[in-house]
Amino acid sequence: MSERSVCPRCHGQLPAPEGKGRRRLWCSQKCRRAAYEERRAARSGAIGLRVERVVERVEKPVWCVEYRDRVVEVIPPPPDPTQAAAIVLTSPRACRVVLDSLTDAATLGTLHRSEHGATVRAAARLLTALREAGLLT
Ligand SMILES: [Zn+2]
Repeated sequence: MSERSVCPRCHGQLPAPEGKGRRRLWCSQKCRRAAYEERRAARSGAIGLRVERVVERVEKPVWCVEYRDRVVEVIPPPPDPTQAAAIVLTSPRACRVVLDSLTDAATLGTLHRSEHGATVRAAARLLTALREAGLLT
């Protein structure tokens, strides 16, 4: 499984970890120091500041949160439907998965008229828009 850790400050790739021990959070002393200064400034300004580290893996992204000097792996919160839709819209593949799933549900008869009435109307609008845009041949 490939894994890629990025610096929470500059989003640069982290150097490969050396042996055991605490995982590296910052890419460099420069970022570590800058982050420390930022946290100090945030504390003195009495604002909450949380540093999040995102470790990207091919299979599963892992969220890590640093509390002061401790790095803890946490379960990422599921996105709410609005956020999820925004994520889906950035990916043609995800859009296709959603539309294919709706198609399957309609075929299997699991797309219930009462629950999915608005969905069915939206799908009809999409079909009309695709025709009018000349995208359906
Ligand atoms: Zn950095």
